[in-house]
Amino acid sequence: MSDGDAEPRTPAEPTLAPASGTPSINCVNVHKAYRLAGRDVPALRGVDLSIERPGFYAIMGHSGSGKSTLLHLLAALDKPDQGEVVVAGKAVHALSEHDATLFRRREIGIVFQQFNLIPTLTAKENVELPGMLGGEPQAWLTARSMELLGRLGLAERAGHRPEALSGGEQQRVAIARSLLFSPKVLFADEPTGNLDSSTSAKLWSLLADLAREQAMLVLMVTHEPAAAVNCEKIFVLHDGRVTSEILTEGLDAAGVASRYQQSARTA
Ligand code: ADP
Ligand code: MG
Repeated sequence: MSDGDAEPRTPAEPTLAPASGTPSINCVNVHKAYRLAGRDVPALRGVDLSIERPGFYAIMGHSGSGKSTLLHLLAALDKPDQGEVVVAGKAVHALSEHDATLFRRREIGIVFQQFNLIPTLTAKENVELPGMLGGEPQAWLTARSMELLGRLGLAERAGHRPEALSGGEQQRVAIARSLLFSPKVLFADEPTGNLDSSTSAKLWSLLADLAREQAMLVLMVTHEPAAAVNCEKIFVLHDGRVTSEILTEGLDAAGVASRYQQSARTA
């Protein structure tokens, strides 16, 4: 068949299928230490954690308890010293560097406290970036990025560079970017750490809505009870271990704070 006979690709299709994994996370006896000045600094000391259903979940713990370290291992940004990390059906601890890169780009979403947008690109181009790196057709990228920006209330901001956007808008662009390939699992590390309280509250309910609409598992690291109350379950991390789980049903932010303080005392 000559090139002239090739079926034109519909712009609504990416080259590869969207993320195919399951909305699930499993950690078994996960250990991680950092080497610092010739000494091992333990960060995780046997984390067990299991989430089998889509929804909005939180990890809470005081500063230095290992929250970011755990998120880095879950998102294939680093490797555990010991233990199993299975995310969206993939054994993340065993991925090669190349497969870890593809896993991060295609199978999961990651959102950080710093929005990590490219300052010279527009909102739309920032959302498309992971697809540009993968060589996706521009027609698909345009349709998908505009769909996501519209969903996140940013259609009018598509042509703006990050400097012309508020903090809340920048974080929503980062969320749109993380959703480009329809991941089943989304990680967020203190996503509202740089935002004021009313913008933060809107972002938490947005994440809860997205988890429900997309049947996605959203796992957010936070130290704010007001954030965690939006989540259905909180995993409390204490000295590198998950020491308790709090079901938030029927609790307000004060109730979450008191259950959290209680669990930190008894850990
Ligand atoms: P959290 O996000 O809960 O504040 P982290 O996961 O960042 O905690 O850190 C857990 C522990 O590991 C802390 O004792 C921290 O000092 C240490 N740590 C984190 N990153 C590094 C690093 N790159 N080098 C050395 N120690 C680190
Ligand atoms: Mg942290």
